[in-house]
Amino acid sequence: MSGLARLLASVLLLLPWTVQGSDDAVLIQIGWLLSDPARPPLENIILVVRDGRITDLRDGTDRRDADAGMRQVDLKDKYVVPGFIDLHVHLTTPASPGGELRTVSQSGADLALVALELGQRNLAAGFTTVVDLGTGRRAHDEAIYALRKAIAEGRVTGPRIVVAGSPLSPTGASRTGRYRPAVDAAISPPGVCDGADDCRRVVREQIAAGADIINVYNSGSLNDPHMVQQTFTDEEFAVIIETAHALGRRVIADGHTAAGINAALRAGADIVDTAPWPDDESWRLMRANNTVFVPHLYAFEQVVGDAPESLADGTMHWIPSPIMKRLYDIKNQPYSAERAYREGVALAFGSDTGVIPHGANGGEFAELVRIGLTPAEAIGTATSVAAGALGLERELGTLEVGKVADLVAVNANPLENIRVLEHVRFVMKGGRVVRDER
Ligand SMILES: [Zn+2]
Repeated sequence: MSGLARLLASVLLLLPWTVQGSDDAVLIQIGWLLSDPARPPLENIILVVRDGRITDLRDGTDRRDADAGMRQVDLKDKYVVPGFIDLHVHLTTPASPGGELRTVSQSGADLALVALELGQRNLAAGFTTVVDLGTGRRAHDEAIYALRKAIAEGRVTGPRIVVAGSPLSPTGASRTGRYRPAVDAAISPPGVCDGADDCRRVVREQIAAGADIINVYNSGSLNDPHMVQQTFTDEEFAVIIETAHALGRRVIADGHTAAGINAALRAGADIVDTAPWPDDESWRLMRANNTVFVPHLYAFEQVVGDAPESLADGTMHWIPSPIMKRLYDIKNQPYSAERAYREGVALAFGSDTGVIPHGANGGEFAELVRIGLTPAEAIGTATSVAAGALGLERELGTLEVGKVADLVAVNANPLENIRVLEHVRFVMKGGRVVRDER
């Protein structure tokens, strides 16, 4: 992706976000602050927020006359980190049985209310920004765009949503073709395209509808009995990614097999998602292109469980057994993320909530530490690295003067015990307190 296209992507993405309602000047006293996961933590800090942005960050002993007039928030006994960014959620999908029926019975209005509730669970867990990767159904898209707008305008409380619209796949691959053709046509998988011209049109349609980022399936789904190894042709991938970049949108390549992953990487995908079965060529391409890799370690752990007995229907009790067998095999091989980390590929945070319960996102941190990341690096995957992957590094990802005031507070030092991030006590998003259990 060219420098200009990256810049354009940043500018387009941040437009609707900074206008939402926020408290006036707020002075936050912070005992321990990890303003940037790449730097050492700071102690005894004053952070001032105005109109949703950080306007001052100084030593806690440096008190000034103007401080007295501001609303005070006391986080002196707390450990504060930047608000988390999750690059992979499904806000209209509760992790429960009945998905097939819900897909054909719920309207966009139904799903907007579902997504509001599920989004709030993500936010309460400290995820102030989430990327909704879509489901490929028109009702989902209606719900997500409406909710993104209502949240951005401050009419309802929820996480900042980066919307991928409908994932792209060719006819018959991945999420398409699961129902009778007449049913599929009625619920309209809007991301389906075949051939270069058709795919160029569909990318443009997604962006016209409001997509912030494009999600393209590079292989079949783990849910497919016979998984397609590479969905689109090389030519189709090239057109999809070129069109998205020309319109200032980054591209996530979501899928599993080396053939599909590598084809998407050769075409210039910015982010690779899931990818349990890459090969040596995948690592070479990711390093060469500075691609960010988003694995979902915790989701695999949660869905499969620890005992072979859970193979019948897993711990979630809604995934059929042939698919559980595949997930079980993935879980019991070394994770590709472990290799990615050793290869020097940047890892970013994605929980796949919707497959696992919304609000359980934070379990991914401990899994990232388990495969070798330092706690600070694990926090970086959900803050600075994730912001950079979206082109939002000037807005989000670290706590610095000028940036959006998204922050999370916990009761203990996350660099000593990463699991404390699963027990968030306080969340501020864009200068507004959205959770307070101090
Ligand atoms: Zn997913």
